[in-house]
Amino acid sequence: MWFRRDLRVDDHPALAAAAERGDVVALWVADPALLGAPHHRSPVRLRFLRACLEALDAELTALGIPLIVRHGAPALVLPAVAAEAGADRVHITGDVTPYATRRDEAVSTALGRDGVALTCIGGPWRVRPDALVGSSGNGYLVFTPFFRVWDAIPVDARIATPAALAGPRFPSDGLGMLPPGEPPLPAGPTAARARLEEFIRSGDVDRYGEMRDDMASDATSHLSADLRMGVLSPAQVGRAIGAGDGVHPSRQAFWLQLAWRDFYAHHMERHPVVARAAMNEKFRGIQWDDAPEAMDAWREGRTGFPLADAGMRQMAETGWMHNRARMVCASVLVKDLLLDWRRGEAVFMQGLVDGDPANNNGGWQWTAGTGTDAAPYFRVFNPFLQAKRFDPTGAYVRRWVPELANVPDRYIHAPWTMPEEVQVKARCRIGTDYPEPIVDHATRRVEAIERYKSAAERMGVA
Ligand SMILES: Cc1cc2nc3c(=O)[nH]c(=O)nc-3n(C[C@H](O)[C@H](O)[C@H](O)COP(=O)(O)OP(=O)(O)OC[C@H]3O[C@@H](n4cnc5c(N)ncnc54)[C@H](O)[C@@H]3O)c2cc1C
Repeated sequence: MWFRRDLRVDDHPALAAAAERGDVVALWVADPALLGAPHHRSPVRLRFLRACLEALDAELTALGIPLIVRHGAPALVLPAVAAEAGADRVHITGDVTPYATRRDEAVSTALGRDGVALTCIGGPWRVRPDALVGSSGNGYLVFTPFFRVWDAIPVDARIATPAALAGPRFPSDGLGMLPPGEPPLPAGPTAARARLEEFIRSGDVDRYGEMRDDMASDATSHLSADLRMGVLSPAQVGRAIGAGDGVHPSRQAFWLQLAWRDFYAHHMERHPVVARAAMNEKFRGIQWDDAPEAMDAWREGRTGFPLADAGMRQMAETGWMHNRARMVCASVLVKDLLLDWRRGEAVFMQGLVDGDPANNNGGWQWTAGTGTDAAPYFRVFNPFLQAKRFDPTGAYVRRWVPELANVPDRYIHAPWTMPEEVQVKARCRIGTDYPEPIVDHATRRVEAIERYKSAAERMGVA
């Protein structure tokens, strides 16, 4: 059993299938191509990953076998371990990134040379990305019809944890290549189940519909990193909230968010180009600024757009950011600073404990308006109105941008409009303690629309 994004033993179809056939070797491969890739150089996520792998090792050991770690290219490691073990089959769960697809093809070919089969069962999603073909046979480009079909599919029944596992013992390279240290939140299947249970017990799941956008209350599930590593399966979540059974509208609103994960995986599998370019062809030639100073200001949370600065600092401090802040930060980068969304995508991948290639890419393309089911490009988020609406008292901004802590409510989202004497009283001098907005939203909005329009015109599809 080669573990990848499925770091648990319960509700694990591939592990159950492997165990049914006899002895099992549990393997995790530290792949230098992945660990060295810019998108994956994320200390916060690697610490979380390490803690998840330690928890998986503990779970497997309790069942009778340890987790073996090997360092190297999977197309070399897998045949070597299969030969050591005398295995005739390697079990995996699926993945959809272009790299994962190439890697699995190479591993399958390499194993095939030795007469070993690679068997893929399930994946980190709820419904396989290739299972929903739509009326055209080419899948879905728009979320709503995708969701309708997705939601009608019953949640899978639980697959029991194997009662015990047995298998040969091999040396392990250990987890020394992953950074040690406290993960940003308790990691592993037990911690993930506790988070899920608390989300339900506290009633947050039943208030999700009204509270999910209330940034200061921070009442969403925080399950994203668990789902990303597969220490929790979406089916486990679905069963716990009673999904699909005339469930409470708030629980349904939460369940719908899990469909977005599957939707973006569906896109990445069918349109691997999204990993490096706009999904919507007509926006592949947008002229972006270079502006390293603006890029640094955005990354460090000192653009003078309070909500965006708060989001970037929340990510820097905790490795997680509220969804509404992700949208605002992304919109400010793309539509106000006119910087290529892929640069922001990379910063998020490095900063987020839940950084997930398909979800992150989908979120960026949606906000940039370059995806298929995205907000139209000419509808540009107003970061100040977003702030007033979703952080009305400014509590979220004050928490993450302490220099604004004493700014009165009426100025919190536009601190540069504070009269001199209010600045003095709030101990926040604009230009000294906190910057003025580094660009003018109204001007840049017009410029952004113009650039999108001319990119589309150059493609002859305005
Ligand atoms: C620019 C941008 C980048 C993003 N990058 C990522 C990323 O790298 N990894 C990631 O998991 N999510 C990403 N998201 C989606 C979303 O912001 C996070 O999943 C969510 O904030 C995680 O918090 P939560 O677990 O409390 O979510 P909840 O609101 O409790 O939602 C439950 C689960 O549904 C899924 N989900 C929720 N919203 C979305 C969404 N819009 N798209 C896809 N799945 C969703 C997540 O798995 C989440 O854990 C991004 C969104 C944007 C706008």
